[in-house]
Amino acid sequence: MNQNADAIIVGGGIAGAATAYYLAKAGLKPILCEKGEIAGEQSSRNWGFVRQQGRDPFEVPLMIECNRMWQGLSAELGTDLHWRQGGNLAMAADGKRLAALEGWLDVAKLYQLDSRILTNKQIRELIPGIEGHWVGGLYTPSDGQAEPAVVAPAFAQVARQLGAEIMTGCAVDEIVTAGGAVTGVRTERGELKAPIVICAAGAWSSRLLRRLGLSLPQLLIRGTVARTTPAPKITAAGVWGPEVAFRQRSDGSFNIAAGTGTDYDIVPDTLRHARAFWPNFRENRALFDLHFGPAFLKSLWSELRLSETGRHPFRAIRVMDPPANPDRVANALAGLKTVFPNLGPVSIVRSWAGNIDATPDAIPVLGGVEAVRGLLIATGLSGHGFGMGPIVGRLMAELAAKGKTSFDITGFRFSRFEEGATLGARSVV
Ligand SMILES: Cc1cc2nc3c(=O)[nH]c(=O)nc-3n(C[C@H](O)[C@H](O)[C@H](O)COP(=O)(O)OP(=O)(O)OC[C@H]3O[C@@H](n4cnc5c(N)ncnc54)[C@H](O)[C@@H]3O)c2cc1C
Repeated sequence: MNQNADAIIVGGGIAGAATAYYLAKAGLKPILCEKGEIAGEQSSRNWGFVRQQGRDPFEVPLMIECNRMWQGLSAELGTDLHWRQGGNLAMAADGKRLAALEGWLDVAKLYQLDSRILTNKQIRELIPGIEGHWVGGLYTPSDGQAEPAVVAPAFAQVARQLGAEIMTGCAVDEIVTAGGAVTGVRTERGELKAPIVICAAGAWSSRLLRRLGLSLPQLLIRGTVARTTPAPKITAAGVWGPEVAFRQRSDGSFNIAAGTGTDYDIVPDTLRHARAFWPNFRENRALFDLHFGPAFLKSLWSELRLSETGRHPFRAIRVMDPPANPDRVANALAGLKTVFPNLGPVSIVRSWAGNIDATPDAIPVLGGVEAVRGLLIATGLSGHGFGMGPIVGRLMAELAAKGKTSFDITGFRFSRFEEGATLGARSVV
């Protein structure tokens, strides 16, 4: 094993794998350490929407550039990522929701995005066979979708071909510093040295950074997803309505999720970060089903150094695999059949869940940390980081290689929490 690198990346989700690729493409020698497998957690478990619409205004210019990148990515990585530019549609059940979606058109106009509001009739013209009483929807034809399970592995594979070292089954126990600067990482396979360490550890980032004395407010929201048997081809749009969210894959099967509501397990971190998350939680209370029980005790136990999970949390849980909520699977399937009354027989072939890592303002943390030179953070992608993954990787590689980025990322700075400078959750989808 090579023990010296230009940069070490912690985490092999889409953020880390894309960073490894763009660093290697720039001629640097990165080492990526992944405790489990590439894209074992959020990056293979998501819906696969690649959306510009509805995002926080800070994210929109990055996402427009990222959409452009997605268009050439299958060719660039030599793998079919199942990218399709079929648009994205968010449907509203009532006037209040529609007003929020309409309000976002001001952001779209600022960047000349092709977003527009559709009437119920226009929704039914766009998606053949769809039925429902929506008052309208926000639609962006240039949005797309891709197949989550193949994207991060494709980035990692080409990164390796370009000289990156990709180490799976290699947990980083801690980031090592000396004199206020990173010197490398301590892993279960020994110490690795580099002047730059990039934390792309997804749902584990807060825990990893806490070992450096840094407080990253990050909580985990459990999202359940299911896949159906194939059906005749209907649409290439990603659709999110109150009854169901769905994306029809290239083979005709649907990825579906319940249109409203998600599960939140109360854990010790809930108390730790309660103040930071309170405003967002209060505003969106109706969206969360709170659970207090085994997850709290499990998490508490994993924090005590008495347990193996407490001593070596990143080794003890190689792949975070939370349980799918069977009620949400049933609701999603019922929702799909409601909106497509003539769909014919489809059934569920599998279901799964993923823990979404969210920040209080639902935008990522991207960039350096004043207190620790050489440490870069790319995390907190807050439930919409699959679409943004390629640009996140590119920007992190730019920062590591040149010390500056081609887009302004100050809105994503880590220090915004400490400064009390967060602007609240501004995304509408
Ligand atoms: C149910 C669900 C639906 C979603 N739908 C969408 C969608 O439609 N569109 C969209 O854009 N986004 C969506 N997302 C969000 C998206 O999946 C995430 O934002 C994105 O995948 C995050 O990527 P990441 O690389 O930051 O994290 P992850 O993919 O979670 O990767 C982090 C990796 O770091 C590793 N790691 C952590 N700690 C260590 C350590 N100490 N040592 C070594 N390795 C470590 C982990 O094992 C993990 O593999 C969804 C997410 C979920 C869960």
